[in-house]
Amino acid sequence: MAEYEVTIGLETHIQLNTITKAFCSCKADSWGDAPNTNICPVCSGLPGALPAANKAMVEKALILCLAMNADINMTSFFDRKNYLYADLPAGYQITQNDKPIGIGGYLDFQMDDGRPVRVRIDNLHMEEDAGKTRNEGDIRLIDMNRCGVPLVEMVTQPDMHSADEAATYLIKLRQLLRWLGISEANMEKAHLRCDANVSIRPKGQVKLGKKCEIKNINSIEAVRTAINYEIQRQIKEVEAGNEIEQWTIEWDNDALELRKMRSKETAADYRYFREPNLMPVVISEEFLQSVKEGMPELPLARQKRFETELGLPAYDASILTADRETSEFFEEAAKVYGEDNKRVSNWMMNEVLRIVNEKGIGVAELKITPSNLADIIRLVDKKTINTTTGKTLVDKVNDSGKDPAALVKELGLGLVSDDSIIREVCEKIVANSPKEKALYLGGKETLIGWFVGQVMREMRGKADPELAKTILESVLKAGEGN
Ligand SMILES: [Zn+2]
Repeated sequence: MAEYEVTIGLETHIQLNTITKAFCSCKADSWGDAPNTNICPVCSGLPGALPAANKAMVEKALILCLAMNADINMTSFFDRKNYLYADLPAGYQITQNDKPIGIGGYLDFQMDDGRPVRVRIDNLHMEEDAGKTRNEGDIRLIDMNRCGVPLVEMVTQPDMHSADEAATYLIKLRQLLRWLGISEANMEKAHLRCDANVSIRPKGQVKLGKKCEIKNINSIEAVRTAINYEIQRQIKEVEAGNEIEQWTIEWDNDALELRKMRSKETAADYRYFREPNLMPVVISEEFLQSVKEGMPELPLARQKRFETELGLPAYDASILTADRETSEFFEEAAKVYGEDNKRVSNWMMNEVLRIVNEKGIGVAELKITPSNLADIIRLVDKKTINTTTGKTLVDKVNDSGKDPAALVKELGLGLVSDDSIIREVCEKIVANSPKEKALYLGGKETLIGWFVGQVMREMRGKADPELAKTILESVLKAGEGN
């Protein structure tokens, strides 16, 4: 590996989560629907049916362009890309060719070790999806439900140099799409699809090697595995003295193997021309301004602000900004608590996110609120409850949706703050443990921990351990010399 430099570019197709399709009023998300139940004359390509562009598609595409720092074409055009394929009923796909909505841009992100990476974008264009084909014996079946579903195709520059970087780019892109609320970005459901162009060249060589395109990669793990397989294959070819041929390769995730689909044709002739049935997409200054004003703070900016303004360690900031809801829950809880953000971060990561993981839900589905969490931490601070009880209280509040202080009362979880009750228990324990007492008084002071444990057990965790320790010390020493 040391002698080769790997170069990777990704083409992603992002399904926008609009209610209706790109150019007709059919439902856009037909996942799980029976084949061909979600089509009309427009999306099934009947002659004479007229398309009309969906404004929500343009708005969501624009949001993505802004988030990717792209230059916006205030006037862009739809074009026909002509090719014959069974799942393309009209014989052409409506896409954007020479004047797409977004040009250039980049995505900045950090690798797990904090190393910054910038991946530049060539362009972003809107287009419609094609249908799906399935072979059953000699029969080819076509489902047109996906025809006309709105997509943004985003092509990167060849800026990634390992499978790990490509996978991280996709993880960060998925995070961004969900954060912006413009796509479900679920790779398993084809909301986010990815083709990878991979090439290798000897270190020091300026000219890029011939690239192969891997298609049909449908999970982040598959991206990592398929690219690594392809890198190894190319290295083997080169070391055997063979030329790399420009292939299109299909990734079979079940067999874990790459399959040659076809030799890459050079610049296929798609006979692009302007779509005559659609108006140019004209974005007004007012519309652009209103979309800009609605943009949320983006994940990396929030992550850095959590570090610099809220004083969180880099690790915490990265976990707490993994999705927008988590970051907003944390920030609200920290605001209500009002001091020691790191303390709130610990409770958030250890307890709240534990529930999220155990239940397999999103933060938005939790019953516990940010202000409930702040209240629980305060109850621990004030020694109304101890830390262990605080942790179980997080679950109890989330299960019931009740107020933490009310639950402490209702379930009798509060610490016993009456010194005389704790003293009584301490005296009993000391009286029943003459051997330990003698050892303690003989200088084995670490035994105090054992005594505290006995008291906590006797009181079922409802004593303040610090207070119990102080009382125990006085009880033990009062008996000194007897
Ligand atoms: Zn339709």
